[in-house]
Amino acid sequence: MSEDKIIDGKAFAAGLRERIGREAARLKAEHGLVPGLAVVLVGENPASQVYVRNKARQTAEAGMRSFEHKLPPETSQDELLNLVEKLNNDPAVNGILVQLPLPDQIAEQAVIDAIDPAKDVDGFHVINVGRLSTGTTGASAPLVPCTPLGCIMLLKNRLGSLSGLNAVVIGRSNIVGKPMAQLLIKESCTVTVAHSRTRDLPAVARAADILVAAVGRPGMIKADWIKPGATVIDVGINRVEGEGGKSRIVGDVDTQAAMAVAGAITPVPGGVGPMTIACLLANTLTAACRQAGIEPPVL
Ligand code: NDP
Repeated sequence: MSEDKIIDGKAFAAGLRERIGREAARLKAEHGLVPGLAVVLVGENPASQVYVRNKARQTAEAGMRSFEHKLPPETSQDELLNLVEKLNNDPAVNGILVQLPLPDQIAEQAVIDAIDPAKDVDGFHVINVGRLSTGTTGASAPLVPCTPLGCIMLLKNRLGSLSGLNAVVIGRSNIVGKPMAQLLIKESCTVTVAHSRTRDLPAVARAADILVAAVGRPGMIKADWIKPGATVIDVGINRVEGEGGKSRIVGDVDTQAAMAVAGAITPVPGGVGPMTIACLLANTLTAACRQAGIEPPVL
């Protein structure tokens, strides 16, 4: 792979976490404020357990407080809502993240709706979604979902201004595709959102200066779907069987082949993935500043 085509999300995320750590230290020194992130895990999903552990470790490493709440798989919706209410009212907690997916007896939407929008560091509450789509700025600017926020940071770092570029987002989930499209509109891109019903997806993708793949299908995006020189952001995290029966993680893009055509591309792993937790820390810092009436730092 040609190194200069690789968008190194791992290195960028490490730099971002360092900047967050410095800002957290400054907040403590100047305002006596230590941002706190509460992460709630219901049940024993092994992938979720790993995510939650990593979030807690990186929160502490950035000099912020981490509160972990592990609840048994049979937890009722009311019990979880009671905990969310407690966290909403706890001044030491500036950000609340309820790890998804939740067990079947709990309605995800009810839980997301219950989180104080000012502490909704996942950016999933309808108030934050609405503010993102209306382009609200200043003190009531939204908290933006972490994965698309990470993608837009990588894009701006690589390309500078995104104004006027054609962007195609494949995927329309509330977690990635839709907020990604909103962020690209905010950057003055011309945005197309494609999904499973899109006709002639390869042709749609080929029109993209920026191609964001958030589908969940290993290697679906082929080299001939990519406009020469385009910037490709691969959000996909897919576990596939590798050599010797060992599993490995691949993205939604056929990366090796795409490298020959794309101008720049995020690898999987080491691209978008590490940005998600770094952006969670950034959102926690932002939320803490806003709750304290302090201008959040530009990271
Ligand atoms: P969802 O399953 O919620 O959404 C997938 C989207 O892809 C849907 O909009 C679906 O269309 C579309 N799609 C599915 N099949 C096709 C197809 N054949 N052609 C075109 N579009 C298709 O997934 P998420 O948005 O939550 O996640 C997407 C990927 O990103 C996953 O691999 C996930 O693991 C990864 N991810 C990575 C994160 C990170 O890096 N930290 C964080 C979050 C997700 P339709 O709406 O029509 O069904």
